[in-house]
Amino acid sequence: MHATDSAGWSKERIQQADRDYVIHSWSTQGAVNALPIAGGSGSWFWDYDGNRYLDFQSQLVNLNLGHQHPALVAEIQRAAARQCYIGPGFADEARAHLAETLARLAPGELTMSFFTTGGAAANENAIRLARHATGRHKIIARYRSYHGATAGALSLTGDPRRWGGESAAMPGVVRMLDPYTYRCPAGHPDPCPVCTGRPHLEELLRYENPETVAAVIVETVTGTNGIIYPPDGYLHALREVCDEHGILLIFDEVMAGFGRTGEWFACQHWDVVPDILTTAKGLNSGYVPLGAMIVSRDLGTWLRDHRFPGGLTYAGHPLACASGVAALRIMAEEGVIDNAREQGRLMDKRLRELAERHPSIGDIRGRGLFYGLELVRDRTTRDPLVGFHASGADAAPMSEVTTAAMRRGLYLSANNNVLRLTPPLVVTAEEIETAMAILDEVLTLADAHTA
Ligand code: PLP
Repeated sequence: MHATDSAGWSKERIQQADRDYVIHSWSTQGAVNALPIAGGSGSWFWDYDGNRYLDFQSQLVNLNLGHQHPALVAEIQRAAARQCYIGPGFADEARAHLAETLARLAPGELTMSFFTTGGAAANENAIRLARHATGRHKIIARYRSYHGATAGALSLTGDPRRWGGESAAMPGVVRMLDPYTYRCPAGHPDPCPVCTGRPHLEELLRYENPETVAAVIVETVTGTNGIIYPPDGYLHALREVCDEHGILLIFDEVMAGFGRTGEWFACQHWDVVPDILTTAKGLNSGYVPLGAMIVSRDLGTWLRDHRFPGGLTYAGHPLACASGVAALRIMAEEGVIDNAREQGRLMDKRLRELAERHPSIGDIRGRGLFYGLELVRDRTTRDPLVGFHASGADAAPMSEVTTAAMRRGLYLSANNNVLRLTPPLVVTAEEIETAMAILDEVLTLADAHTA
């Protein structure tokens, strides 16, 4: 066999080459033992031994249209046959079409898009644009956040487990507490200065001097770090405070956007529009690497007379953009967001039934198909099943649950003590019932750790 011919490799050969030559994300390479995957369809994928897994993660919460959606695959094949690449300096039909589509779909006056290869790059460009447009350098970001793994985006990310040795890779980041009502950082005074947004941000600005702050960046709904929904009024308060001080508001909807929460964009639940919205993942269901930074009409006007200080070889890659146009059309034509709402309601009902039987369920948070199940040792004290920043042996009670689910054919993930339930938006009612039945079985393992 020719050295570059990968067709027909055995599962053992794939696994061996993967172990020997592929550097895996967030892993100690010696511990890598990745399962070779042979294929997928809809909400399912399968391995080389014929074991099928119900994908309740949508991989990295990006396969909103599920695995191998036939119409999307066909569109990508057509687009590849037409034109795989033309540089970003030329006008391209797919790129222009996707930008126009986003201007129509996005809320308020978000009208112009800069395309990237993913979410981190969208955030990098958002930070750079914000600093350039305001002439200020500080960026306020939150603790329980994930904004990507490039130097700038990682500096915004408030989770030290992600940092390696580079916690201060990008200077100028100021940290803000999260509106995490289940574990209110201010200890539940009413009204809480953190969870209402305004008092906490105003106090930070008093210390930092608002005239040095370019932007506030938040995940509209916190994803990786716990599926945390802001209380009503919170995002509105951030919007007001930012407006009062000429600070740009950036919503990172890389995970929460494109139907995940049952609306095209999560910020539409609260009717608040940012100055910059960053997206990726569900934008094209992840079939080709793609991200975007969508900016307000005001910033677009500013850019008409100012040079945009960034560029990527693959900015607006025609194949990626064509997949975005197709994915968004398919979502609209097939009523995928309506399905997310409907199946989300069913899942919500079943989860609340599970909570009656399983003392380890402390909190259920979600809308659409973006759910977090927070597991506790004691409902009264809310003592978490595993602590914040748990990894390795400390995280064992959570991995017992996810490993047992995988053995039963349900692919789930957990971060700290929160199980993430984020199936493809095309999931069926039957698949929700299957997943809930497996969850019912494996949650007994978490219950065994309760007081
Ligand atoms: N922002 C959020 C909210 C994310 O969830 C992620 C990835 O999970 C990113 C940014 C980074 O996106 P990417 O991995 O495409 O760079």
